[in-house]
Amino acid sequence: KKTVRKAVIAGNWKMNKTRPEAKALLEELKPMVADVKDVEVVACVPFTNLETALAVTAGTNIKIGAENCHFEKSGAFTGEISADMLAEMGVEYVVLGHSERRQYFAETDETVNKRTKAALEAGLKPIVCVGELLWERECNITEEVIARQIKLDFFGISADDLKKCIIAYEPVWAIGTGKTATADQAEEVCAFIRATLAKLYGADVAETITIQYGGSMNAKNAEELLSKTNVDGGLIGGASLKAADFTTIIKAAV
Ligand code: PGA
Repeated sequence: KKTVRKAVIAGNWKMNKTRPEAKALLEELKPMVADVKDVEVVACVPFTNLETALAVTAGTNIKIGAENCHFEKSGAFTGEISADMLAEMGVEYVVLGHSERRQYFAETDETVNKRTKAALEAGLKPIVCVGELLWERECNITEEVIARQIKLDFFGISADDLKKCIIAYEPVWAIGTGKTATADQAEEVCAFIRATLAKLYGADVAETITIQYGGSMNAKNAEELLSKTNVDGGLIGGASLKAADFTTIIKAAV
């Protein structure tokens, strides 16, 4: 598949792995993906694993990301981590607006927008997640939901800054459920996201933005999903916790 965009396969470890477990997983992964050139390989790990992950992957082709950051620069926000704190460590990516953050931690498009701006200002590359609930899909408002999220999450963000972002389309009903979107469903919404970006930023900019699919992507279904024109990569939860499965997905994106 030939496009102008770089394929990006990012693992989202969620709340998994102690430091020794994180080290073991990355040590196992390193040689398995060492020869991968045309795919950006990213592991987004819990805050407590960042230092370990950065040390273990130094000098390799595995990039490290965090799973969230706060939008304020510093101050009285007990329990939070700023974008500057992550950037200073050498973290490159940050997942923002994941549906679990929206569902369980009351994050809104407004705070996702603020977080995205804060991350960009700190020099991080945001992976901004959007996606509809099952109920919204059943009511035939998937496109309205996605357009609204894109407009709000990227409000006030310049074309140059948008180019530093990745968008992950993650239908909420497919996350951690084993119920993957079909490749056609994934392509339909990823193409719609690109069309929405084209309206906001122009077709030239939209063509360059990496759009991932996420939601029960695994070693078996990755190749078909990634073969679609507008699916430029994946955000992988469960399957990123096994080096062999994650490697198979990465190689399916080559
Ligand atoms: P899953 O998670 O691959 O386990 O469905 C994807 C995600 O939440 O990013």
